[in-house]
Amino acid sequence: MNKILPALVLGTVAVMPAGAVVDKNFNYHVDRFADIEVLRYEVPEFDRLTLNQKKMLYYLGEAAQMGRDIIWDQNGIYNLQVRQLLENIYRNYKGDRDSKDFKAFEKYLKQVWFGNGLHHHYSTDKFTPGFSEAFFTAAVKALPADMLPLADDETAEAMLAKLTPVIFDPTVMPKRVNQDGSQDVVVTSANNLYGPGVTQAEVEEYYNKLKNPADPRPVSYGLNSRVVKDEKGNISEEHYHLTGLYGPAIAQIIYYLDKAKEYADNDAQKAYITKLIDYYITGDLRLFDEYSILWAEDTKSDVDFVNGFIESYGDPLGMTGAWESYVNFRNNKSSDRTHKISSNAQYFEDNSPVDKRFKKEKVKGVSAKVINAAMLAGDAFPATAIGINLPNSNWIRAEHGSKSVTIENITEAYEMASHGNGFNEEFVIDAPTRKMLDDWLYITDMLHTDLHECLGHASGQLLPGVDGDALKENGSTLEEARADLFALYYLADPKLQELGILENPDAYQAEYYKYMMNGLMTQLNRIELGKDVEEAHMRNRQLIAKWVLEKGKKKGKGGKDVVELVKKNGKTYVRINDYKKMRELFGNLLAEIQRVKSEGDYKGGNDLVQKYAVKIDPKLHKEVLTRFSTLDIPPYRGFINPVYTPVTGADGEITDITISWPESYAEQMLRLSDQYSPLTGKVKAHK
Ligand code: ZN
Repeated sequence: MNKILPALVLGTVAVMPAGAVVDKNFNYHVDRFADIEVLRYEVPEFDRLTLNQKKMLYYLGEAAQMGRDIIWDQNGIYNLQVRQLLENIYRNYKGDRDSKDFKAFEKYLKQVWFGNGLHHHYSTDKFTPGFSEAFFTAAVKALPADMLPLADDETAEAMLAKLTPVIFDPTVMPKRVNQDGSQDVVVTSANNLYGPGVTQAEVEEYYNKLKNPADPRPVSYGLNSRVVKDEKGNISEEHYHLTGLYGPAIAQIIYYLDKAKEYADNDAQKAYITKLIDYYITGDLRLFDEYSILWAEDTKSDVDFVNGFIESYGDPLGMTGAWESYVNFRNNKSSDRTHKISSNAQYFEDNSPVDKRFKKEKVKGVSAKVINAAMLAGDAFPATAIGINLPNSNWIRAEHGSKSVTIENITEAYEMASHGNGFNEEFVIDAPTRKMLDDWLYITDMLHTDLHECLGHASGQLLPGVDGDALKENGSTLEEARADLFALYYLADPKLQELGILENPDAYQAEYYKYMMNGLMTQLNRIELGKDVEEAHMRNRQLIAKWVLEKGKKKGKGGKDVVELVKKNGKTYVRINDYKKMRELFGNLLAEIQRVKSEGDYKGGNDLVQKYAVKIDPKLHKEVLTRFSTLDIPPYRGFINPVYTPVTGADGEITDITISWPESYAEQMLRLSDQYSPLTGKVKAHK
């Protein structure tokens, strides 16, 4: 679990701290449909980059966008064909574009763009079209023959017969990632990471044969491949590389990585770009590990990037990496903050409320910086994370450390776009608490992310002989809880004032209030009535909030509850009566969860998760949904990218790169499909 998803998407409001460098007139809002809002993000400090750095950023951005088709195809075997078909209808439709059917079609296409395919990016459920099958059939038949994206030897009728149930039948490919362990999760997941007919048992057997349990430095098996079965029933991997699967897209990525390399910040960076290109050429996972080590150890470069098959959330077996890219550069002002935190990592480890046996004697490999995203792509686009911690390989993390980053301009955009959306007025108990959130939530939220990423995940150790996977299906939830609790505990520590990171010793209360309100109430907005909490980060937040609610009964000052749910005018609110005691409780739970992890106590962990993290009070759930529905706050948000344009001099040399935000959501998506679609044969000419 190495990316932080934005809890704030719900729309917690905070104003910027005085002195923050933002353009007050910047328009964050781009589009709104279904459960989605699309935003744009600013790129602060872009102007401070040198021409070489801008060029590097530009070429890395091109390399990023050239991978877009890969994630579409990984997400589902028909996604690219459906995308071309829908876009051609969208461009060519000659009927009434204000009709109900066309409006529903447009909404559906926007959802498909956002999901990088036919399934929701978060729930992974298939989208339900709001237009009729008759409308769709007529629109396809009205297309000129050269606008039908037919597969080899396919007739228009055959394509229509194939794709109609894929789009309209809710029982066909219903979920992209099925994690219901009582079923064959490979067969029942609609992604394209496993070929037709391949079963979970076959995949597991295949990899068990490949793996050598005695290897202390194993490659990340399956990271860059699709597992297929031939007519004889033999299982094999189709690797993603230059002359393999996704070759045409990988060729474009390599071309632009090579251009970017010319402008690398230093030799170390040049070396790992070369290594990454070698890996893309061969598909050799050992080269990817070598690249990852060089990348993790480069903490100097200003412009930086991720480009590859990285996170495995999209694979029910957690092996294959979804293609993604982040291009970014250091946010100097805020990196100063995380530098102070990570250079004091040992202090935080030594003073945590955890049993000594479970602490690291020497905390290693905590490197952290704050970045500005400059280009998001693949699985990180349009929905994106606010923090990342890579590489994912466990032995590389243990031996070489990892890079932990907080993406400041994305967090900033979420916050700014939420301002004035009515959320705080609806859910925060009173005006003084709202004022406190306005004043302090922005900075404490950022700090929470920093502490979670730089210290939380890196802290603690397993007792000798304990299996890292002992907590099984609760592993992610408990790991996220551990990191969150570490962050919550230290947000209230005077060390932060001593280090000059947070001026007001009471500022932490803003984050505490938000955390409890979110964990007990407002995050329920993302869940359908009648369902349980499923996603690991959401389970973790509810676990912590409900545990503290229960354990704090009558334990606050004057015998009051530390935190309580109170009714005002028939509405439920969180009231916190004793913030100091709350910190103590966070510390107690941190100690307990660290014990569970260190001892590999499956039962202890499972009891916590089952008791606090999963179940929802249906009455409160309904109330939260009703109150949200009056606000029109989208549960999910994502971004379009800025446009970078090279300015060329008389001799054709690039003299500058400009940044602008000229496009609507649909315009950007259509342009990407036109110019950055190597797998459908549409690529702009190299200059
Ligand atoms: Zn985390």
